[in-house]
Amino acid sequence: MSKKTLDLESITAAGVRHLQPYQPGKPAEELERELGLSSIIKLASNENPWGASATAAAAVTRVLSGLERYPDGSGHRLKNALSHQLGVSPGQITLGNGSNDVLELLVRCFVEPGEGVVVSDHAFAVYTLAAKSVNATISTVPACNYGHDLEAMAQAVDEATKLIFVANPNNPTGTYVGYEELLRFLERLPENGITVLDEAYFEYVDDRDYPNGVELLERFPGLVVTRTFSKVYGLAGLRVGYAIASEAITETLNRIRQPFNVNSLALAAAEAALSDEQFVRVSREENIKGMSQLCRGFETLGLNWIRSSGNFICVKVGSKANQIYKSMLGQGVIVRPVANYGLPEHLRVTIGLPQENDRVLETLAMALRQVGKA
Ligand SMILES: *Cc1c(COP(=O)(O)O)cnc(C)c1O
Repeated sequence: MSKKTLDLESITAAGVRHLQPYQPGKPAEELERELGLSSIIKLASNENPWGASATAAAAVTRVLSGLERYPDGSGHRLKNALSHQLGVSPGQITLGNGSNDVLELLVRCFVEPGEGVVVSDHAFAVYTLAAKSVNATISTVPACNYGHDLEAMAQAVDEATKLIFVANPNNPTGTYVGYEELLRFLERLPENGITVLDEAYFEYVDDRDYPNGVELLERFPGLVVTRTFSKVYGLAGLRVGYAIASEAITETLNRIRQPFNVNSLALAAAEAALSDEQFVRVSREENIKGMSQLCRGFETLGLNWIRSSGNFICVKVGSKANQIYKSMLGQGVIVRPVANYGLPEHLRVTIGLPQENDRVLETLAMALRQVGKA
């Protein structure tokens, strides 16, 4: 009997055919195996180096006795807790398996093949990935000082544009757009489109003119704000994020949301994490200290960086960035190359514990000596 053949390429959906999967930061265990080292530090995925709230961990333990049950598909308790904290109704909240899940729901609900999606250069890669997968027409607008150029993005919007992504602050650059600028942008957009304001690092931002997207929802019915428990709350491993929008948009997202997209451990941990304000405050304060520790070190090494409002920073190490990345890997420190974000001379470093930041600076100094700055 002859074996049947399959021309997979020809049957793969057009948007998926040439898609490059998202490249996550290198897992610490992988480097551990490769090097046979045990003191690896990973500062490549903007995780909270202080862990998660003990309250959240305790909540997970309590749920362990009910693993045979499906989770509450409506996420009732978590949505109620968020609703109180944010001053919106539970009907305005969509929970996701990470905010990534919600970003994908948005693309699938609103963008048909050939329709337009506007993003900024150097913006978070997931927007383009999701948009490409449905064969959208993507307009990538050049950045201004590494940040979103909202003026130029507004100009890139046309009748075919369905979705606009604004990462505030942006990953990997750490840049943010201020209140006035964002308001002017939203005012001038045409009415029939959705603007997604990705506030994954909202809790970390300390800048006085940083806008709170949730406060703008009443005025702009096409606005969707996304946030996550993966960053300051330290729950990246559990995957919980959410969108806040009008009840009408929320109802639309709910039509295609997987009925049990957030698992029971994640729901319990997120609800508990919300109540631990002390943990969030300490994480924020330590982040500010760690950020200045790294910046002082970069300055001593004669390096420039992009001013960041998140829990990470892009340092400019020159055209040998990839060799420097590898040298640091060899010394057991994982940071993130960002050439695939159009930043071939930078490396992104997550702010770590004080001793981890010291090690970043030591291994970076060593790498620069080995490789030379170019
Ligand atoms: C980390 C991050 C997210 C959050 O991803 P999750 O799926 O919630 O873990 C979203 N947007 C940006 C810009 C991020 O950096």
